[in-house]
Amino acid sequence: MIANLDRSVANVIDGVIALQRAIHADPEIGFDTVRTAARAAVELRQAGLEVQEGIGKTGVVADLIVPGATRKIALRADMDALPMDEETDLPHKSKNPGAAHQCGHDAHTAMLVGAARALAPLRDELPCSVRFIFQPNEEALPGGAPAMIADGCLEGVDRIFGMHVWPLLDTGQIGLVTGPTMAQPDVFRATIVGVGGHAAAPHGCVDPVVAGAAIVNALQSIVARNVDPLDSAVVSTTQFHGGTADNVIPERIQLVGTIRTFKDAVGEQVRTRVREVTETVAAAYGCRAEVSMQIGYPVTVNDPDACDEAEGAISPAVPVTRDVSPSLGGEDFAYYGQKIPAAFLFLGNRDESQGIVHFCHHPRFRVDDAAMPLGVRAWLALVQGARRG
Ligand SMILES: [Zn+2]
Ligand SMILES: [Zn+2]
Repeated sequence: MIANLDRSVANVIDGVIALQRAIHADPEIGFDTVRTAARAAVELRQAGLEVQEGIGKTGVVADLIVPGATRKIALRADMDALPMDEETDLPHKSKNPGAAHQCGHDAHTAMLVGAARALAPLRDELPCSVRFIFQPNEEALPGGAPAMIADGCLEGVDRIFGMHVWPLLDTGQIGLVTGPTMAQPDVFRATIVGVGGHAAAPHGCVDPVVAGAAIVNALQSIVARNVDPLDSAVVSTTQFHGGTADNVIPERIQLVGTIRTFKDAVGEQVRTRVREVTETVAAAYGCRAEVSMQIGYPVTVNDPDACDEAEGAISPAVPVTRDVSPSLGGEDFAYYGQKIPAAFLFLGNRDESQGIVHFCHHPRFRVDDAAMPLGVRAWLALVQGARRG
């Protein structure tokens, strides 16, 4: 099998890298992944797959039907870029201002297209049918997965696998976590309302800046003093906006932050405490707080049996390590796992000798060219070694 794998990967890898670079240079955000989806669809059709476009608005679903197979597994890639600028010196750097593939979704799409092209000629030898899912809008609520699911992308699918380039793991291996793998990312927003006025007469004002500072500090006590130390949670205040002049106490300020948790009960507890702490500390300073919560993607949970199937199939071809931690990042792959057994794989993407050390969403994050053949190889091994059905 390994010799065949080498040949299969070699046949497609130049095309995979060319596709990743083309998508990287022309990033699209959110549901506006029209050109990216079209690039994928063309290659999938050329490979002889049954391709449907416009699924979940701008997603693509391609089927490789294996004659006689009753089982179908799905492999998922995301296609969207981030609303940011990249700071690399790559020749295929983003040419679209304010958009960049700093999460590696360009590589996810290219690797999965490559896997489909490599698997199509092997159709008669595969143990089960395969559905290739390319979704938009992973990076922003409400995610792209719910719309794909509503359009039927999981119908007839027994289990689903996803893969993410992973800068916490050296290139050359696949990381696999059983159970909770990615966190639920909720967003809190608070407006703290006081009474503005002259900065030289604070006694005539109710200062929301001082209240806001106290709130930011008090919020840090929630994880330290309320959450069970054996559970994981993060509360980060990431925005603090207010004021227009050096001599004016503003009427109001805005706080925004994120809450990350791995259990529903802990998420509920932290959201409740963020609201209580914000409102009561604001009141202690004579201010009023208006707090709103945006509930994030659910926790991404890796099914133990899907993990075993993936590890059993992939490990002869690419080393699989379980020595990798869950991430407090969020991922809308979680929605697929709520419907059918799912496993989300981490593809090592770190090489200090090349300076490939930055985490996803960093302006200097980049995909390691050496990781892409391993990602394709892992997809091929997963399908070829999947359970027959
Ligand atoms: Zn991301
Ligand atoms: Zn991502």
